[in-house]
Amino acid sequence: MGRTVNIAEDIKAVLHFYQSLGFDRLPIKTVTSKELRVTSKKKNKSFEPRTPNSELSSSRVTRHASRDKEAALAALREEIGDCQRCKLSKGRKNIVFGEGNPGAVLMFIGEAPGREEDIQARPFVGDAGKLLTRLIEKMGFKREEVYIGNIVKCRPPQNREPEEDEIRTCLPFIQRQVEIISPKVIVSLGRISAQTLIGTKTPISRLRGGFYEYKGIPLMPTFHPAYLLRNPKDKWLVWEDAQRVMERLKDK
Ligand code: SF4
Repeated sequence: MGRTVNIAEDIKAVLHFYQSLGFDRLPIKTVTSKELRVTSKKKNKSFEPRTPNSELSSSRVTRHASRDKEAALAALREEIGDCQRCKLSKGRKNIVFGEGNPGAVLMFIGEAPGREEDIQARPFVGDAGKLLTRLIEKMGFKREEVYIGNIVKCRPPQNREPEEDEIRTCLPFIQRQVEIISPKVIVSLGRISAQTLIGTKTPISRLRGGFYEYKGIPLMPTFHPAYLLRNPKDKWLVWEDAQRVMERLKDK
């Protein structure tokens, strides 16, 4: 009886988890009876019902960043100063340097600050940011345990995409942040970030779902949270990418 109650609670927790990510149905795929038998055999060895990834936070996160990394990031911020190196400086209110744990094992790199980010001088704080924060938490991390940055640090006018000259000029800064933080896995958010870091023009719909390498670090491209706000049905795909990232972090 106790076991039945536990299973019911596990199912309830999983349903609640998917609901909190904004899903209104479960990602159930039809399996053949043969697949089912194989899966059952594998699972019998190690299956433990649990809410997704509850142990990652404590076992894989470097909670206290080294002072060296913190100092290196502070020095880089100082070097950027009141940057006027590209034309995005003209319309911005604030430079959005990036934030999070300098010793993070997981780093998210988006495209550019939006309106709210420009006002607050913080990355991913608007509606898309709230969705990203929910994803991070469902992956087993607190937002402050990961590091979040963008390819360019100033808001493009009318939220247009950053142009090639702007990306080229600003890119060394996020590259240095990656070098300093040296995460175990990078997740790039959206087309611009993935194409810039991988060095390709392949569409994001074809890039996502598999790992690439950026300076020796595994990089998982996935959709930008702003895209997900417009296309909520694709949240499943991002969750699949996130699960691959969680698996990779367990292996590290
Ligand atoms: S986007 Fe980057 S390079 Fe351009 S002004 Fe801002 S900080 Fe400088």
